[in-house]
Amino acid sequence: MAKKPQKRIKHVPQRTCIGCRTVLAKKELVRVVRTPEGVRIDPTGKAAGRGAYVHKIRSCWEQAIKGPINHALKMELTAEDRQILIEYMNQLTQKEPTFDETTQNGTSEQT
Ligand SMILES: [Zn+2]
Repeated sequence: MAKKPQKRIKHVPQRTCIGCRTVLAKKELVRVVRTPEGVRIDPTGKAAGRGAYVHKIRSCWEQAIKGPINHALKMELTAEDRQILIEYMNQLTQKEPTFDETTQNGTSEQT
């Protein structure tokens, strides 16, 4: 029996980025929702409908739009849907988000 880690971790909802398949906190991802009018970006994460999550990284959107998003939303993207996603993607930067490494001081040189 594996012991549960004793760390005090708040329960953070986690989702998988459909672009790179990384699991991470929901707030790091952007939700795409399937509505009767088509696919929309859902900044609140609360819109009704089947949703998929993608990193705020351009490369993940490129990857997602190629195929996984059809699967995740259980639909075929229309040209219009694709356009909405591409427009969103185009406002993202190419680089990956920066991680907080302010207090990472693992190696200390001793002389
Ligand atoms: Zn990703």
